[in-house]
Amino acid sequence: PKTLKGQKALVTGANSGIGMAVAAALGEAGADVAANYVDGDEAAAKVVEAIRAHGVQAIAYKADVSSEEQVATMFRDVIERFGTLDILINNAGLQRDSAFHAMTLAQWNTVLNVNLTGQFLCARAAVAEFLRRGVVPEVSCAAGKIICMSSVHQEIPWAGHANYATSKGGIKLLMESLAQEMAPHRIRVNAIAPGAIRTPINTAAWNTPEAYKRLMTLVPYGRIGEPEDVARAAVWLASDLSDYVVGTTVFVDGGMTLY
Ligand code: NAD
Repeated sequence: PKTLKGQKALVTGANSGIGMAVAAALGEAGADVAANYVDGDEAAAKVVEAIRAHGVQAIAYKADVSSEEQVATMFRDVIERFGTLDILINNAGLQRDSAFHAMTLAQWNTVLNVNLTGQFLCARAAVAEFLRRGVVPEVSCAAGKIICMSSVHQEIPWAGHANYATSKGGIKLLMESLAQEMAPHRIRVNAIAPGAIRTPINTAAWNTPEAYKRLMTLVPYGRIGEPEDVARAAVWLASDLSDYVVGTTVFVDGGMTLY
């Protein structure tokens, strides 16, 4: 069903993994989609092609989400092109793993800047447009929707990944504070916490039979998650089907956090 017909979406980190699947799923649900990425022009062009196959508009937009200036220009350009914005998927993220005693300030800063500050910058820009525009009843019950890609590591510590886990813990309270502040404006902010999803970010955890077996000891549902599993949750959170859902984290983790 075209639950997002006519809506305008921006997905960060949309030329790989989860972001790519989310961008395609939003297009399939009828939204026009701006697919942000930081490098990989060819992959971005393919994503745009896949989205357009659903008969909607799609653009690729290269910008570093940790740059205040690039984020401001991106939102200005995308809003000019689409006329407005209804949905932000704050998805861009990376890892720079290290044993804690050896972690460099650069590794720490890169992860915090992209994963956490990037979400702040994009959410701030989206909210400005949502507040300016308000609710358009023919389009959606909400004045705008933001979905923050968090991780099960917003709850579970992760040895060897302190910078990453810290960024995701930060996203949780960023999302909840923003959700509380924006709810009176009918702007809905929620998060998704994926567990182990088959994407390039975590290849080492699943690409050999031994690694996969080890990973499965952590996942009651007994299979790795696919980017499409996360994409379906994103479409639901972006649509009016979740209209009364505010400030919630949806765990898409095959039960990983039940232990
Ligand atoms: P991925 O490496 O496949 O994709 C990451 C995307 O982010 C890429 O498109 C990359 O270009 C983009 N990106 C990185 N730095 C950027 C920047 N500065 N500006 C703009 N874009 C940038 O990884 P993924 O697994 O698809 O991860 C997507 C999100 O999901 C991340 O926030 C990640 O933390 C989260 N997540 C993933 C998993 C998993 O198991 N794959 C689990 C939990 C959370």
